[in-house]
Amino acid sequence: MITTPLQLFDTRARSLSPVTISDGDLLRIYSCGPTVYRDAHVGNLRTFLLADLIIRTLEYAGYKSILIQNITDVGHMSEDLHEDKLLAESALTKIDPFEIAREFEGRFHKDLALIGVRPAQRYPRASESITMMQDLIQELIASEHAYVGEDSSVYFDARSFASYGEISGNRLDSLQPGHRYEYTDDGAKRFHADWALWKSAGNRTEMVWDSPWGLGFPGWHIECSAMSLHYLDGVVDLHLGGIDLRFPHHENERAQSNSAAGREVVAQWVHGEHLLFEGRKMSKSAGNVLLVSEIIAKGLDPLSLRLAFLENRYRSQIDLTWDGLKAADSTIKRWRSKLADWGPSTSTAASEKIISECIAHLMNDLGSADVAIVLRKVERDETLSMGERAHIFREMEQIFALDLDRKMAAIELTDEQQHLLAERAEARSAKNYARSDELRDQLMALGVTVKDSASGQEFELLS
Ligand SMILES: [Zn+2]
Repeated sequence: MITTPLQLFDTRARSLSPVTISDGDLLRIYSCGPTVYRDAHVGNLRTFLLADLIIRTLEYAGYKSILIQNITDVGHMSEDLHEDKLLAESALTKIDPFEIAREFEGRFHKDLALIGVRPAQRYPRASESITMMQDLIQELIASEHAYVGEDSSVYFDARSFASYGEISGNRLDSLQPGHRYEYTDDGAKRFHADWALWKSAGNRTEMVWDSPWGLGFPGWHIECSAMSLHYLDGVVDLHLGGIDLRFPHHENERAQSNSAAGREVVAQWVHGEHLLFEGRKMSKSAGNVLLVSEIIAKGLDPLSLRLAFLENRYRSQIDLTWDGLKAADSTIKRWRSKLADWGPSTSTAASEKIISECIAHLMNDLGSADVAIVLRKVERDETLSMGERAHIFREMEQIFALDLDRKMAAIELTDEQQHLLAERAEARSAKNYARSDELRDQLMALGVTVKDSASGQEFELLS
């Protein structure tokens, strides 16, 4: 076993503990991925950034990792409609559910790249892991942790797993019947806290598969157990996800995985906190869901989102605002131009000391916010040479990944050009196309050509 210098807050232990590599020399990470029926909003992206930050920090210290992240394209039921999220979207848009899944899966990868998150080693899709899930369900039935109900669905027997509730604190004896765990029509469950591993198709005709229990489809929680056990060879050093997944998703996953393996499968459960936007929880119904494409449409660098996240610890709730994003955008631009001015890096005892201080902050539960404070200080520290400052920024860039060595555009936009671009982005999002065309002509007259793409408007300066 290798004990790394990185300490993270373990939700189950409720304390900080070192990240350990329990087998071989690769840290094995599993991070719950997106349900691909719509765009990932920036709150989801904050959670996905967590794995990237851990991996880059440990890589800097010489440790290697492997990351598996699932793509949920079947089985995730909506709480209000009791429908598969993909099928509900398909009914609404009249587009094939798998076509929807592939579209949003593509956009998810694109969004991650835009905020500097490097890809996982593997992105298994639920719909392509059906046999793997069925095998695991068979094992759980054989070991009497699961049973086939009279409705031909297979349920996990929650009472067969004594330590249920250790992650969230929701113990079985305190879970009342009628508590909203997730989608459930109760079916043929023997106990109110049992959950479906496999659901009988009933009237459903799309996204269903043959199984030893008849036609049906998998439950949502079983995919993460099946994939993490399979792709990480039964050893999960770190399991990541958003705080809302603690219960029931992770609690159920732990029960399934441990029951199958006969031991504690996940060494550490680490959760990212909620994100508020302009003071409110981001939700579709509240109409304040923010997407990366909207940040780009406002003319901001998508990496401003990454910096805004890094300026807070992953487990503190953030209230993201447009003003905060604009400030982060101008910080990145300023850093890029300063780094270009500072020139080549010079490593000295003084610069190495500051770099070690930054790494120590990161090793302490990913104190990226403290590193950002150090960088702001270094930026203005006249006692450091330009080369020393450049060295510190370039070292931290390996983890912050803000594309700081990007060459600044030779020609900057004028205030008027910027103003017109922002106004046009707003006109477009308000679907005021007449106004947006008018603004495009005005911009053209000022030497800026604009074209619209899926991720917003893009512009070029005519030379
Ligand atoms: Zn999961």
